[in-house]
Amino acid sequence: MSSRPELAVTGLHHVTAISGDAQQNLDFYTGLLGLRLVKRTVNQDVPDTYHLFYADGDGRPGTDLTFFPWPNMPPARQGIGLTMEVGFSVARGSLDWWAERLESAGIRCTPEERFGERSLSFSDPHGLGLSLTETDGPLVTAPWDRSTVPMAHQLRGFHAVRLWERDLVRTARFLTDGLGFEETGEQAGWHRFEVGDGGPGRRVEVRELPEERRGSWGTGAVHHVAFRVDDDDHQARIRERVAAAGQQPTEVIDRFWFRSIYFREPGGALFEVATDGPGFAVDEDPSALGERLILPPWLEARRSEIEADLAPLGAAITAVG
Ligand code: ZN
Repeated sequence: MSSRPELAVTGLHHVTAISGDAQQNLDFYTGLLGLRLVKRTVNQDVPDTYHLFYADGDGRPGTDLTFFPWPNMPPARQGIGLTMEVGFSVARGSLDWWAERLESAGIRCTPEERFGERSLSFSDPHGLGLSLTETDGPLVTAPWDRSTVPMAHQLRGFHAVRLWERDLVRTARFLTDGLGFEETGEQAGWHRFEVGDGGPGRRVEVRELPEERRGSWGTGAVHHVAFRVDDDDHQARIRERVAAAGQQPTEVIDRFWFRSIYFREPGGALFEVATDGPGFAVDEDPSALGERLILPPWLEARRSEIEADLAPLGAAITAVG
């Protein structure tokens, strides 16, 4: 491969999406997909809304799909300027097991070959596009020993996110100049961009659909995609690079488990760049992540009011025995 830019994000950090009912969301991601609820908190900007974080056993960056449950919001209008699918990796040989598990739960799956790998695409109960792709390579995620899914088949972090865009060139230039990606392939209209050594979790795939309508947020939509940086200094340098590439990053916002900047890419999709640390164990015992409602310190004084506004949420489903 040709040399890549020296300054780049290091991969996908988390993806945040909008769901319907919070309990249905929790049941699907912990019960069926076997992820760990690693943080049960509220939207820091809209604290009467949950913010639920699902990840691997350790809550590592690169594994974390989060949701704002907004059950009264209309369904998303799928279209350009949105991230249309969130892809996870699974071990080679796992896809048939997953197809059977999903179909027996009434989830319709579409098998596909993508860039030489086997994938299965499907939607969550509120319309979010998901996929599982069989990949080789070392396990970079931590298994969850209380998962409903046997360790051999557990999700192994992100594989790629897929965006629809009106103008491929503008988004491609920004991914390259702003974030340090490089285009590494094209198949069936999907252009693959990778950072670093490439591979699962370091990929964005973009399809140009010039005639397609513009998408808009609603239940089942991706709200934003966050990319990883090592630390504050790395983030500051990426922030300069994003601005030099013509987009307008926010100031750094302390999300407590990481620090973030936000900006839109030229096609309209909302992106974030988040630090790897300090991580989800900063305010909870690592063995009990997600079991109680966590509030950032500046909302703690309003705990009883906030808890009264939230619908009750049952325990995350974990394997028995
Ligand atoms: Zn985020």
